[in-house]
Amino acid sequence: ADGAHVPALVIGTGYGGSVAALRLAQAGVDVHMVEMGMAWDTPGTDGKIFCNTLEPDYRSYWLRTRTKAPLNYFLGFPIDRNIPRYTGVLDAEDFTGITVYQGRGVGGGSLVNGGMAVTPKRENFATILPSVNPDEMYATYYPRANAGLGVGLIDPAWFETTACYQYARVGRKHAQRSGFPFVFVPDVYDWDYMKQEAAGTVTKSALAGEILYGNNHGKKSLQKTYLAQAKATGRVAISALHRVASVAPAGSGGYTVVIEQLNSTGDTTATKTVTADRVFFAAGSVGTSKLLVKLKATGALPGLNAEVGKGWGDNGNVMCGRANHLWDPTGSLQSSIPCCGIDNWAAGGAFAEVAPLPTGIETFASFYLSITRNPNRAQFTWNATTGKVDLSWQTAWKQQSIDMAKTIFDKINAKEGTIYRTDLFGIYKIWGDHLTYHPLGGAVLNRATDNYGRLPGYPGLYVIDGALIPGNTTVNPFVTITALAERNIEQIITTDL
Ligand code: FAD
Repeated sequence: ADGAHVPALVIGTGYGGSVAALRLAQAGVDVHMVEMGMAWDTPGTDGKIFCNTLEPDYRSYWLRTRTKAPLNYFLGFPIDRNIPRYTGVLDAEDFTGITVYQGRGVGGGSLVNGGMAVTPKRENFATILPSVNPDEMYATYYPRANAGLGVGLIDPAWFETTACYQYARVGRKHAQRSGFPFVFVPDVYDWDYMKQEAAGTVTKSALAGEILYGNNHGKKSLQKTYLAQAKATGRVAISALHRVASVAPAGSGGYTVVIEQLNSTGDTTATKTVTADRVFFAAGSVGTSKLLVKLKATGALPGLNAEVGKGWGDNGNVMCGRANHLWDPTGSLQSSIPCCGIDNWAAGGAFAEVAPLPTGIETFASFYLSITRNPNRAQFTWNATTGKVDLSWQTAWKQQSIDMAKTIFDKINAKEGTIYRTDLFGIYKIWGDHLTYHPLGGAVLNRATDNYGRLPGYPGLYVIDGALIPGNTTVNPFVTITALAERNIEQIITTDL
């Protein structure tokens, strides 16, 4: 409520925020979480909380009047459609050179993502977070994160026989015939539930093409894991449809936080001011960076250092499809949850997920999201003219990612006698190089913050989300974001409370 005082305020309810809230509450601290998206706990008139990928409705996008599907063409035809403006679950946030997809709502990115829960290879860790002790991460914090998130692996025997992973088996065959290491990828989806979906005994979610706009069953989003545990402590309150606009030192100690209440069309209906002893920035790489850059430039937190806004990367995301021969169908039923990848990181700088195309019809296409070792880093800056935060990413910077992904797919195409699909991202466009699902950085650990996420000069202010990671995790990022948050909050609870 307006005028309230809280011991700890957490901005955002994604991975970093959920870890912070749970561990603070377990240490006896009352926590208030502020989330600009919806609660996503109430079904619509169709009985479902989330809509389907094939039929995006008002629930799909964050304050857009037209969908912006990552894969925006099919068989050469644009598939986007008009929708009512609503505080939907997926934000396609446009910057000059890149569209950044993010989850909006209680659970953050865990609501919309594929649930792929990958711990990076230890040999790569020094490139991911150079100032963090890998022994501690691999002995303590990665295992703790995996346990907290409920990570599991597909039953390999079921993988071999189920129709819904025909596309993945084709992906494996092609990878192996070209000599690439093929790996199973863990996920937070409930694999027993998916087996029951395939058997027809439960309501389908992964097998009904639910992905991007939320899963109604099966996926263990943060609402079912960290946030459920946090609420069970009785010390965590969450305000959905509330957006933090400002954080500034309060005269009496602590911080004054200005919060805007939103309605479901995105208008501000009330402005509230609270004070907090501690504030945790967990608004995601983009959300946290935008807030800090703005607050530094506009005088609310002028003492933030010059590293704020720097070191942002796209995790090298690039997508492509391949056209298979008629004897290599990928299946009309495809699980929306990916379960495997092609690891060419050491040799070619690319780790490619074998991704679904859950269209409901046979497409003879193999589809991939590659994570690549793209070296480019962009910066967030305050634009006083527009009153917005800009990002300096340039479209051309994706070429290096394309070249790395080609180390896998040019070779497979040559071996199989196949070609790239040109009908998925436009007309005669092979590469989905306009976007990222994996924003990382902008308030980098040990540069913009100290080595545990504390913001220098402002005791009680912390960054605890993907903004801490300087641009690349070599694999999908949320396990690393969660593990780093576990490491940092443990230190903060021990030494700062
Ligand atoms: P987020 O999870 O982004 O949470 C930040 C929260 O803060 C959001 O809920 C946001 O609404 C809220 N917020 C922002 N600004 C404010 C404000 N001013 N006031 C209040 N609240 C605010 N990663 C994987 O590891 N595996 C995958 O399979 C995978 N698939 C993905 C698929 C898609 C389509 C997308 C979009 C992402 C995917 N990711 C995946 C990435 C992963 O979801 C993110 O890396 C992760 O969610 C980031 O966690 P975070 O804690 O940094 O922030």
